[in-house]
Amino acid sequence: MEQNIEVQNAPPKSVRIQQPEPSQRDNKYAPSNGIYVREVKGRVETFRRSLGFVLMALFLVLPWLTWNGEQAILLNILDQRFRIFGMTLWPQDLTILAWIFMVSAFALFLVTTLYGRVWCGFTCPQTAWTFLFIWFERKIEGSRHQRMKLDERPMDADKFLRKSLKHFVWIVVALITAMTFVGYFTEIRVLFIDFWLLESSAWAIGCVLFFTFATYGNAGWMREIMCTHICPYARFQSAMFDKDTFIVAYDEKRGEPRGPRKRKSDIEEQGLGHCVDCQLCVQVCPTGIDIRNGLQYECINCGACVDACDGVMDKMGYPRKLISFTTEHRLEGKQTKIFRFKSVGYGAALILLSALLVLDILFRVPLEFDVIRDRNTLYRENQEGFIENVYTLRIINKSQQAQRFILSASADDVEDMQWMGPTEVSLAGGESDIVPVSIAIDPYFINRPMMSIRFEIEAVDDSRVSRQVTSNFIYQ
Ligand code: SF4
Ligand code: SF4
Repeated sequence: MEQNIEVQNAPPKSVRIQQPEPSQRDNKYAPSNGIYVREVKGRVETFRRSLGFVLMALFLVLPWLTWNGEQAILLNILDQRFRIFGMTLWPQDLTILAWIFMVSAFALFLVTTLYGRVWCGFTCPQTAWTFLFIWFERKIEGSRHQRMKLDERPMDADKFLRKSLKHFVWIVVALITAMTFVGYFTEIRVLFIDFWLLESSAWAIGCVLFFTFATYGNAGWMREIMCTHICPYARFQSAMFDKDTFIVAYDEKRGEPRGPRKRKSDIEEQGLGHCVDCQLCVQVCPTGIDIRNGLQYECINCGACVDACDGVMDKMGYPRKLISFTTEHRLEGKQTKIFRFKSVGYGAALILLSALLVLDILFRVPLEFDVIRDRNTLYRENQEGFIENVYTLRIINKSQQAQRFILSASADDVEDMQWMGPTEVSLAGGESDIVPVSIAIDPYFINRPMMSIRFEIEAVDDSRVSRQVTSNFIYQ
């Protein structure tokens, strides 16, 4: 950092030529016109790295966990079954999935209203993987300055080796990421063996290759372009901002007029603010913006500039937080309100939706039971003179354990009813079955052409796992 401070004594213009601001680039959308992100150390960086490490470890480990001898999390799209630890969700459990999406969305809205784009800066996979790829780049090609020099010089053996190694490591990381991600949707233990033996399905191989390419392209080449020009969240998140939202901001009143100065010089005499115009906040920014120009949609709230500027303030003997996580109201010297219309509204919606999700899970019956009346034959009379209707019962055991079910039927004011078909069905966890049955009723009890009949199913070992479905019995 001692050296960094000395940079400020160089004419500011020469610094800007090395790290042009976005508006000064020829074409800021071109990956070749990349940003050379400078390494930064500080509280925010330590926190983000630790959080990123934990989240990446979770991502890598979760699909390898087992529950009751099976993969604990398996979102099997082809078989339309989502296994999440002890619960299996079927297409019929769409409401639970809908609650989960809504809870996630409102949690994101609430966090964005309170703390701005912290999702982008600290937890978004795009940011986490971009920082990981930059870390490998730094280890292989050197510091920001060394990387710029390396890119300027013509190809030689050293440059070729460094570039090749960097891209090889990126591809390996991208491949592991893609295989892990696809492992959430197919048996990961099988995938990690079959993929290398080329015995995986074309679907699995295609997905792994696609996500490898996407990870390598997004984190290695696209980087900030994904955040600033492609991600839809970057576009609409500003609608959730207000003057009480915590954002990364530059304290203009304190920092201006900016300018280089000697460390112990009298800034009041020189008429300067606390910003020494060292450009470090720009050089560490993964999206290449200058936060001193005010709140910009490119800012992902990563806080790298906060650490960079705090380091400069420490060296200069000025108070920290010239750039900080703060609110517009706080910068204006006003009180920041946590409880306001937007935050309370999103919070209330989040609590309500979370309660509905929990209730839906608690009262979920892991059994699907449908009754379809045979439409080809309205009714027939059997040898005993009883009137017979034919039904098809469709049963799905949505639990992960084998279950034995008892089947029965009843109707109001009918004392003599015959059930023709199996009265007991055993199904393995996740298994379904079609059971044809006939119901015959003594015509003495039939007093109208169409009457209701109740079909019931109940698990032998757990009476809470039961369903009742009403169908019609026809005699006309
Ligand atoms: S805001 Fe801080 S890091 Fe940025 S140029 Fe000024 S002193 Fe340097
Ligand atoms: S301006 Fe600061 S907080 Fe925003 S993206 Fe750049 S480094 Fe991160």
